[in-house]
Order: sequence, then structure tokens, then C-alpha cells
Amino acid sequence: MGEFEEQSTWGFETRAVHTGQDPDPVTGAVVTPISLSTTFAQDGVGGHKGFEYSRSGNPTRAALEACVASLEGAHYGLAFASGLAAEDNVLRLLRSGDRVLLGNDAYGGTFRLISKVHTSLAWTAVDLIDTNRLVADWPDDTKLVWLETPTNPLLRCFDIEQIVDIAHARGALVCVDNTFATPFLQQPLSFGADVVVHSATKYLGGHSDVVGGFLALDDDELADRLTFTQNAAGGVPAPFDCYLVLRGVKTLAVRMERHCANARAIVDLLVGHPAVERVLYPQLPDHPGHAAAAKQMRDFGGMVSFTLKGGSDAALRVAAATTLFTLAESLGAVESLIEHPGRMTHASAAGSPLEVPDNLLRLSVGIESAADLVADLEQALS
Ligand code: PLP
Repeated sequence: MGEFEEQSTWGFETRAVHTGQDPDPVTGAVVTPISLSTTFAQDGVGGHKGFEYSRSGNPTRAALEACVASLEGAHYGLAFASGLAAEDNVLRLLRSGDRVLLGNDAYGGTFRLISKVHTSLAWTAVDLIDTNRLVADWPDDTKLVWLETPTNPLLRCFDIEQIVDIAHARGALVCVDNTFATPFLQQPLSFGADVVVHSATKYLGGHSDVVGGFLALDDDELADRLTFTQNAAGGVPAPFDCYLVLRGVKTLAVRMERHCANARAIVDLLVGHPAVERVLYPQLPDHPGHAAAAKQMRDFGGMVSFTLKGGSDAALRVAAATTLFTLAESLGAVESLIEHPGRMTHASAAGSPLEVPDNLLRLSVGIESAADLVADLEQALS
């Protein structure tokens, strides 16, 4: 782990390219070297240069941690082998019997991790949009609120500041999964969140070629505990994976701008299309949480979900009929993807409060030419 001074005079794009990535002092290499050594020479017992053993700290990982922490406006950044490894680290902060309050729309794997792996924890899935109800029904043993905004796959948005106020007044921490928004569109720590979690596999990496996770936070004591577990449980990423995420992050801002613009073109096609029942996109004024998204996000993101009037058969037909949109799990990369959450990413939530409609399709809109994407979806819908 590193504690980082935010280079606040630099803009987001500059930090993405330069923070933690000074030219190598020995060789002058402009690109952060992939540091494969598992161990580091000491010039006397304890006389190391900041690195001892690569699980505890690695120079390529340190560069990534500095860069993404800075993009989230965080003092601390911790990289992990996957988004779920990062989430697991956060859940290990809790004690047996503590309750996690999570939204009733969230990544299915998060729900699986909480309900099937951390079985000593209690959990409640609630509709986080109804904050009056949230306050009225608040379980007293809640120690952590797990907040995805926008959610996967319904893209519901929640007012981070409002939920943080409610949780903090009742002694609970708030962890925000910022995977869909990325720090370019939304910085949850600035709204009071305690921890930000990422599946770096998605927009941070951005090219569908690396699995990774990340935590960003400000609090010293929490950082000590999470750093201890990062090392003690060992769910760390390989140096090559750190390099790939770091390379992806350099172009995050320009990719996100294009993702958002292309998503808007797709939404324009879907809204009012005779085969489409409902379009789910945070920019739409009737979208659940539109006001929260407009308040806390710079733009509305590259993910678009929609339901089909023809039910699940129609959804499966459309998913099979696109050619540019590849039918595949995952999201957040340069290429466009389509998937059926009920049978793919969210199959593990079947029968639970997080079950998703079976006529739902989710699009990860890539950075290809908008006209080609619109034409592909149009032919698939017809
Ligand atoms: N959070 C969200 C919102 C996700 O969509 C995913 C994966 O799809 C994860 C966390 C888990 O990340 P990973 O697959 O990198 O373990």
C-alpha cells in the first residue's frame, strides 16, 4: 500500500497518464517497468528501499495504486487480483453477526460472496432508492452499506451523500462499487463514502484482457486494516496485470467520453422503438435515481439496459442476432458487448431478492463508430 499526496493541481487526464509513473530513475524508461522480482535486496537487515517481498509490495503495483488512488481523490489505493478479491477484503473488516445492507439490485457475484462465502455475516437486501423506508426499517446491527451506483444491471442510481449521512448517523460504513461510473464520472469519497471498490477488469483496464480489483479510501485506520488483509490473505495482482490496468487507465477519460456519447446514440434508437418495453439509462428523466445521477456524475455512462415487449424469447433472439455487439459477459471495454443478465451475469441471483427480469438485455456500449453500433442493434431488433 502507499499513502499518496493527491497531485490536486493536475487535471484528471494528466494524473491518469503521469501519477505514479515518473520515468524510471535508473534507465529513463518512460513506461512503468513490469517488475517481476519476488524479492528485493536489503543492505542490512531491514535496510530495504521500500520493497521486501512482492506480495507485500511491488513497484508496478505501487505505480498502479498511486495512479488510481489519485483518480479517486484518495489517500490510499490497494490493488487486488480481481474485483471480488477487493470486495472480500472489505467484507473481512466485519465480525461474525455483523449485518451488510445491500441494494436489491447489485452484481450477482457480490451477492454470492456476501450470502454464500461470508456466511457468518447477516445481510438484508433493500431498495436503496426509498430512503424514508431505509431509515424506518434500518436494522440496528448494520455495520456496512454496500452501495452500487449505477447498479448492475438495472442502472439504478442513488444519492451517495444522502445514504452516507443515514449510515454514518447509525454507525455503519459505506462502501461504493464505482465500477460502472469510474472515477472519471463519479468520485464517491468526495460524497463521504468510506471505501470505493472497483472491478478493474472493466473500465479501468478497458480492453477485456485483464482481471483486477481496486480499493480507494482516505481513513488511516481502515487503510491499515485493509492493507494488513491485502498482504495476509494475499489476493494481490501479478505485476503484468498491474501494468495492463495502468496502461488502460491512461486512456480512461477519452474512452469514457466516447462510451457516454455512443450510449446516448443507442438510447436514442431504443427509446420509442416498437420492440422495446423500457429503456434503462440514468440520463432519462424518468429513470430511477436520475436526479442523483445528475447531481453526482459528470455524465451518464456507457452501460444501457432495456426490456423487450416480446419477453425472454425476444430478448434471447436479439442477443443472438447482433454481430458487432458480441454476446459475452463482462463490460467496460473498447468493444461493444450484449448479454442476458438473467441467464448470464446474474444467474447466481435467481430466486433471491436480486433476481432480474428475464426480458432484460444489458449493453456495454464500446467505442466503435456510433452509426455502426446503431445499425447493428436496429437489424437485431427487427
Ligand atoms: N462489481 C461489479 C459492478 C461487477 O460488474 C463485477 C464483475 O462483473 C464485480 C464487481 C466483480 O469483479 P471481478 O469480476 O473483477 O471479480
